[in-house]
Amino acid sequence: HADTAMYVAKSHGRGNFQFYSPAMNVATHERLLMENRIWVALGQQQFELYLQPQVSLDNGRVVGAEALLRWDHPELGLTGPERIIPVAEESGLILALGDWVLARAVALMAEWKRDGFAGLRMAVNLSARQCHGRELLPRLDRLLADAGVDPSLLELEITESAAMHDPEHTRHLLRALRERGINVAIDDFGTGYSSLSYLKLFAIDRIKIDGSFVTDIETDPNDAAIVTATIGMAHAMGLTVLAEGVETAAQRNFLRLHVCDEAQGYLFARPMPPAQFREFMMRAKGQALGPLS
Ligand code: C2E
Ligand code: MG
Ligand code: MG
Ligand code: MG
Repeated sequence: HADTAMYVAKSHGRGNFQFYSPAMNVATHERLLMENRIWVALGQQQFELYLQPQVSLDNGRVVGAEALLRWDHPELGLTGPERIIPVAEESGLILALGDWVLARAVALMAEWKRDGFAGLRMAVNLSARQCHGRELLPRLDRLLADAGVDPSLLELEITESAAMHDPEHTRHLLRALRERGINVAIDDFGTGYSSLSYLKLFAIDRIKIDGSFVTDIETDPNDAAIVTATIGMAHAMGLTVLAEGVETAAQRNFLRLHVCDEAQGYLFARPMPPAQFREFMMRAKGQALGPLS
């Protein structure tokens, strides 16, 4: 722990680096171990994309799903992205992992097509490094063409900070994606430190309001103001809005009242393995998910 390390270093005087190195070695060792595990996992098919429904607030129907990375490790158990993505980002493994994610997502889209889930959108998270590499567009073209999947059913989610890392590159990338009919959503909207000016620079389709603004939406006037202003601004710019982290009927009702287009959250369904999502969709059969008001 950082505080402990500082304390130890201080108590032994300046320049005593030995008290840092054991901690660093542990961290480095952990990281290398994790990197190695990720490589093995890619080879052994230990990763999976869980699917969380995205619901239209107009009619309560499922309009898409977000693909969320999960790792079923033989010893570590089921692990979420927060333990995987940061290590993968730093080591460069994110490119191999991100490529696996894209391939798996497109394969699932082909399954949906066979299952007759017409018009269902697949939302996939992109890492900053994936956005800035040169492989993304050719890779997407090949995957979609080989699978015979409609590009307009694919949506790529990028965060403000990933987009703003190299705005000029992002602007070209998003143009190229739009030419292909691929949708782009800004993820975790409002949580970065970017100015709003990027919104007019980039060809985007959707804004995803971060769940942190949704939690207290009915009780915190500031959250309510941020959410309603975001919806108004997005609509005025011709963008659609999806609210993340919707857990209660009251939150959904607030969002519906303020004409938010779509929502995603535990109220509707948790992220689930693809087979379970398939059953979920078969059961739902285009019906609304619960009462709308
Ligand atoms: P995100 O893209 O903003 O995804 C939404 C997160 O909120 C997911 O966490 C989801 O499980 C969680 N969530 C959904 N509904 C609710 C709710 O009602 N309440 C609460 N409290 N949480 C909810 P998850 O799956 O742990 O993913 C965390 C983040 O990891 C994602 O945030 C995304 O940034 C990243 N991520 C996930 N999969 C991938 C991937 O394949 N590639 C990359 N690059 N990043 C990924
Ligand atoms: Mg996302
Ligand atoms: Mg998000
Ligand atoms: Mg997030």
